[in-house]
Amino acid sequence: LKKLIQETNADAIYWNRRYSPFHIQQDSDCKIALLGKGMEVKEYPGNLLIEPSELLNKQGNPFKVFTPFYKTAVTYLDVQKPLPTPSELLFYNGQLDSTALKELKLLPTTAWAEKFIDYWTPGELGAHQKMNRFCNEAIQNYDKARDIPATQGTSRLSPHLHFGEISPRQVYEKTRSQEAYVRELYFREFAYYLLFHFPKMVKEPLRPEFMKFPWNHNESHLHSWQKGLTGYPIVDAGMRELWQTGWMHNRVRMIVGSFLVKHLLLPWQEGARWFQDTLLDADLANNIFGWQWVAGCGADAAPYFRIFNPILQGEKFDPQGEYVKKYVPELKQLPTKYIHKPWKMDESELKALGVTLGETYPYPIVDHADARAQALDAFQQMRE
Ligand code: FAD
Repeated sequence: LKKLIQETNADAIYWNRRYSPFHIQQDSDCKIALLGKGMEVKEYPGNLLIEPSELLNKQGNPFKVFTPFYKTAVTYLDVQKPLPTPSELLFYNGQLDSTALKELKLLPTTAWAEKFIDYWTPGELGAHQKMNRFCNEAIQNYDKARDIPATQGTSRLSPHLHFGEISPRQVYEKTRSQEAYVRELYFREFAYYLLFHFPKMVKEPLRPEFMKFPWNHNESHLHSWQKGLTGYPIVDAGMRELWQTGWMHNRVRMIVGSFLVKHLLLPWQEGARWFQDTLLDADLANNIFGWQWVAGCGADAAPYFRIFNPILQGEKFDPQGEYVKKYVPELKQLPTKYIHKPWKMDESELKALGVTLGETYPYPIVDHADARAQALDAFQQMRE
């Protein structure tokens, strides 16, 4: 920045405020250094609808429960309208002694991400296309379709929001009449709000008793989960959707997350790390918030003892098995009745449909009932 300022004779610098502990520190260091050089520094709240510092409960403390946070935010804090697109943008047109983008060698050397092009158009244009598709085709039915992973019932704006390719205010302006959707935008606000007020949650559970949780450390289970080879079709479909497309449906994120921390008793931080590595929308605030919610150790989280049954979740949210068949094609021929529990089907009938458990598709790596009992036991140990 110092070099760029010298070269361009810039006398002011503007940026959007950021909220993770690391970014707050970085921005604050920059600000002090730039002010010291006589620069004008202007920060803007462009990444969120509301400023986390502006909202506290009646006792003057940060909210820890979503509903009162949301109600207070929508009652007392106005969301500013997005400004119109500038008719003219002035660019610096002198020469810069700058590193060429190519020299940074950011593109992968093997073509591992080629398929992503089928799903994503990075940049502002792609973001607005996604928003228009959603507003024209899906928003009216969002409340019902948002939980069905086989449909395009949600906006898929998360990577674009993360990278600032569309602003939350632009999205809010277009969708404000649909309460169910606006609530989700406020979940994103809540995640940032919590991270801002409780920066330790990046590494530590918000509920301190979970520091004592007797987690397992089983590399083989972790690997099966990452690769989508747990033997539970809805879990495997989710993990493979993530690997193939860089995104996973929210309902399935909850199912695979719950499976990791409750069925496998692996620490939520392992799941958060894998998501951070593989999601296109990997976002520190939302990711940590999501994982702590799933693990029962966050603010306003799903109670640990409420354990998702991956078979029933599959049958409820993917009743025809369309989602499973798309991402776990080796089970494509299975009748709907068995699509979420292939091990219940007769071995020879399975074979006739091209499936041999243990060879073409795994047996469940843990038994649901046993895993549930162990999870409850571990929870009890922690409480004691
Ligand atoms: P839509 O349903 O269209 O919602 C619109 C926007 O609202 C989203 O783009 C997102 O910005 C926000 N939003 C929706 N649901 C949530 C939520 N539960 N929490 C916070 N914000 C929400 N989201 C990320 O952006 N990055 C992550 O790294 C991330 N990790 C997650 C990890 C776990 C374990 C879980 C359970 C959820 C995680 N989420 C994360 C939240 C949520 O799954 C995604 O935001 C959502 O699936 C994105 O799809 P969409 O844009 O179609 O959502």
